[in-house]
Amino acid sequence: MADYSSCSTENRNLFTPCAACKFLRRRCLEDCLLKPYFPPNEPMKFIVAHKIFGASNIIKVLKDLPATQRGDAVNSLVYEANARMRDPIYGSAGVISHLHDQMTKLQAQVALAQAQISNLQSQNANLMTLIPKQQSLSDHHYKFQNSTPLSYDDNTEIWHLGDTTWDSFWS
Ligand SMILES: [Zn+2]
Repeated sequence: MADYSSCSTENRNLFTPCAACKFLRRRCLEDCLLKPYFPPNEPMKFIVAHKIFGASNIIKVLKDLPATQRGDAVNSLVYEANARMRDPIYGSAGVISHLHDQMTKLQAQVALAQAQISNLQSQNANLMTLIPKQQSLSDHHYKFQNSTPLSYDDNTEIWHLGDTTWDSFWS
């Protein structure tokens, strides 16, 4: 291969065939239809698209379209060709179907997680209504224990809690 490192970019493009012409072993002319879309530094784009659709079909698609839509058309052909290489039957439709299934499963997981969150939130709300009561009970218990002396009367053999006897405390 000749060394074009000293040439200008314009000259280099003139002498370097596009990826399509290089693969098809044909002369790449200045007005080559494929040249803008299959640059020599991306050979796999044409190889994959050619393997699935064939060079003549690619050329036909490009000829039938206005120049402004050709770039998008080539990108679509290359994308579909890559998808067909991975999934020869369904191609990109298989990818869409797989992603749709994934989305349905993930939506079900999100719905389940939201239901669990809602359930936990209502459980939490129920617990919060109980906590203040428990706190006031424990406060009461604390004061009760500290302010009321507990004593045992040896004569009557009865425990006294302040002025309250053990029996009446529990009755
Ligand atoms: Zn070419």
